[in-house]
Amino acid sequence: MKGVLNLGRVAGIKIEIHWTFSLLLIWVAFIEVKAGADLTRILLNELLILLLFGCVVLHELGHALTAKKFNIETKKIMLLPIGGVASLEKMPEKPGQELLVALAGPAVNVVIAFLLALAVPFKYYFGLNATEMTEVLYTPSLQNFIFYLFIANVMLVLFNLIPAFPMDGGRVLRALLSYRLGRVEATRIAAGIGQTLAVVFSLLGLFYNPFLILIAFFIFFGAYAENQMVKRTSLIKGHIAKEATLTNITILSPVHSVQEVVDLLLAGTEKDFVVMDQDEIVGIVAHKDIVKHARTPSLLVKEIMGKNFTTVDATTSLTQVYEMINREKNGFFPVVEDKKLIGAIDQVNLSEFILLKSATIP
Ligand code: ZN
Repeated sequence: MKGVLNLGRVAGIKIEIHWTFSLLLIWVAFIEVKAGADLTRILLNELLILLLFGCVVLHELGHALTAKKFNIETKKIMLLPIGGVASLEKMPEKPGQELLVALAGPAVNVVIAFLLALAVPFKYYFGLNATEMTEVLYTPSLQNFIFYLFIANVMLVLFNLIPAFPMDGGRVLRALLSYRLGRVEATRIAAGIGQTLAVVFSLLGLFYNPFLILIAFFIFFGAYAENQMVKRTSLIKGHIAKEATLTNITILSPVHSVQEVVDLLLAGTEKDFVVMDQDEIVGIVAHKDIVKHARTPSLLVKEIMGKNFTTVDATTSLTQVYEMINREKNGFFPVVEDKKLIGAIDQVNLSEFILLKSATIP
């Protein structure tokens, strides 16, 4: 994706920062300038935001490295103005593991807050009256800086533990409910609570802080997506690739021309094609490759086909196929049985299969 700044890797996990993050820095500077702050104060506030997001990265690494213990990889950690997102391959399905992964993030901030607290002179602060307190806290100093960072970490812990998907608290709640109710029912309840809270947040946002509306959106749709995902994956459990395979497919030969493929694309509903030479699968022509080469109709299939493809065995579990498709957008996989091609599977057909399954289950 464009518009991100790559900050490097930690333990093999890419750390990226989204361009909209700069809007947050500009906004903070704007607020400060409007309040009549001097340069030192503005720079200190910007530094505070950067350090806070450093703490957010550590929080996300807490999730990612705990997940790694359960053999779940994390592709990247992305920083957005509203926080960090770690793209875990999936969440562990065992409640105990999910609980640990969800709690690991806030636990990191608890540790940071504890360490910072050691340097905060609470006694001194508490000894001040309200006027003195406001004045002291407004003065730029290292001591105040540490205090603010401490408060920010405490807020991070509290905020993340609100039991609303896709926040950590929602996952903790789901994991706890899963022990008794099973994952599907637990997710339904946790997502319902998340969406209810989202509505409350957006109402509060209307009156107090528009930022809450943004967070409410994030929670509402996150909860919806999570509930759908769990329902979907539960429907394909116990099924194999063969059941959702598209068997009525057109096979291309390496010497077909692009023109012929374009005609095929227009004449039917197939978008991606398997290429075979004799009895061997030699490549895949993806929809985007056809579009890309449509202006050169005389090219041959063998010149435009992708040779880097993954085949799926007919007996592979659909859960595994679902994960493959999620990893690879527009994934299209030839399906083989006893080393012979029997068809292909892609997201559209898998969705069709899930739809039909959900229609037969009340
Ligand atoms: Zn978290």
